Amino acid sequence: MSGIRPTGFLHLGNYFGAIRNYVKMQDDYECYFMLADVHSLTTHPDTKELKKNVLRVLAEHIACGLDPEKVALYCQSHLYETAELYLYLNMLAYKGELEKTPTFKDKVRQHPDNVNAGLLTYPVLMAADILIHRANYVPVGKDQEQHLEIARNYVNRFNHRYGHVFPEPFAFNFNKELIKVPSLDGKGKMSKSENQLATLFLADEDDVIRKKIMKAKTDNGPAKKNSVKPEYIENIFLLMKLVSNEEVIAKYEDGFNNCTIRYGDMKKQLAEDMVNLIAPIRNRVNAILNNEKYLEKIMKQGADKAIASAEATMQLVRNAMGLNYF
Ligand code: AMP
Repeated sequence: MSGIRPTGFLHLGNYFGAIRNYVKMQDDYECYFMLADVHSLTTHPDTKELKKNVLRVLAEHIACGLDPEKVALYCQSHLYETAELYLYLNMLAYKGELEKTPTFKDKVRQHPDNVNAGLLTYPVLMAADILIHRANYVPVGKDQEQHLEIARNYVNRFNHRYGHVFPEPFAFNFNKELIKVPSLDGKGKMSKSENQLATLFLADEDDVIRKKIMKAKTDNGPAKKNSVKPEYIENIFLLMKLVSNEEVIAKYEDGFNNCTIRYGDMKKQLAEDMVNLIAPIRNRVNAILNNEKYLEKIMKQGADKAIASAEATMQLVRNAMGLNYF
């Protein structure tokens, strides 16, 4: 189980942190993938653009290779059962703990005028999203590791108090380290809301991709053989490892170690490899978006599958808690 907020165009972080793994999991696991529209209200309370964004992000999931016949691809707001579970989990969540969560502190810094309780209890709702399907594996990027730890705390508290209902959920990347896709300006990670010029979106046109990559921070190259890479150079190599083939990567690694590297050439190569990844996805999104009836059908079908799973979980939860008076 996993989810992405429909707060804007999907970017390379969403693709490599989450969706690429969704696609790899869809044949071997029972999968529930969600558009986290309710979560998006914590920071984007204006709903005028919401439907448009939901349809776009839905189309982006399908264009990346997700098959709505194989997985439940659904909207969070269609699953009322999650609200009930969230309510019960809130009794197991402590204010002090929530206030210490780094993502909460970041959001307070970014939105000082809108520190709502939904922002504070974001990890509780996220836990409810995962536990509603009694999920074991959660394909997410590195930034979500701590939220998974919080979800496991609630599982243990719930199971200890009311009896075993939930498995412990773990962040999942096929036994490899979780991914953090760095931003192109050498600071932080790619994100929908911050530093948009340093983030590559799946909707970016070829020339925009090239321009953004050519602007990425580099320098004159190392002066000494086998130097340590500065973080902004390490980031360019990291991005290259995501999209380029092994020969290309080896060529630039050697170039760096021998002080012959030309970052202009490296960025040109990286840009072409990125265009090869992004252009076909972008073109498929545009084709799917034209078919609103199809997208609505997919959303309804996904909701039906997810609701069946959620109802079964809530029967177990109510019975375990003793909320079954007749
Ligand atoms: P969000 O866009 O915050 O709703 O995140 C949705 C998913 O994308 C989560 O699994 C995140 O961990 C993942 N994600 C977002 N940004 C990045 C990034 N820069 N690198 C890796 N994963 C990311």
